[in-house]
Amino acid sequence: MIIINIEVKNIFEEFDVIAENAQNIAIFTRDIELQKNEVLIINLFIEKIDSLLLKTGLIEEELNLLLFLKFTIESVLLEIQMIICLKENKIDLAWSALIQAQGQISIAAKNHPFNPSNLDGFINRLNLYEKLLFPKIMFASVGGIIKETKCTICKLEYEECEHMKGKFYSGKLCLREIHEMELEEASIVENPASKMNRILTTTYNGKDVDIFTLI
Ligand SMILES: [Zn+2]
Repeated sequence: MIIINIEVKNIFEEFDVIAENAQNIAIFTRDIELQKNEVLIINLFIEKIDSLLLKTGLIEEELNLLLFLKFTIESVLLEIQMIICLKENKIDLAWSALIQAQGQISIAAKNHPFNPSNLDGFINRLNLYEKLLFPKIMFASVGGIIKETKCTICKLEYEECEHMKGKFYSGKLCLREIHEMELEEASIVENPASKMNRILTTTYNGKDVDIFTLI
């Protein structure tokens, strides 16, 4: 792909430096203050991407590349936030950060402009965190008949338009919004659509306790 815009080119080069530094900090043993500082650095970089995304005159490939860089660096940011939360004993926030990091990087992989397998190592690491650091838990899931949906790109009924959820279009992510649904069942499952909807408590020593900390 050819990047024409000089600012996009610069951001692309800056991304390499930021991502490399961030990976060196996104290791559990690194000092927490260094990690908090890295969060600030990445947030500033994301602000830069956001302002460039609003710029007119960029071609579709450039806009999609910017959004790809944003989703990728956001998932590294979330990984560092997960580590900080674990160190500060904020376990439920650590879980949310990890699940969001997994979500962001899987969207980035779907929209990788070059070679999606470059992200495999990072995706595996996030999956390993889930298995090694947290207990096996169950999730809530709802099923029903979807009556009305909307595409976030063209605002038409999702089933009637040509966009695909999870794909980038001119720097915007396509989502299938559910506007009306007839609820049929709610169940407890092992593999849910969203791991944010998790079981919160369990019984331990005869008491209801937090499922992660047992406190
Ligand atoms: Zn659409």
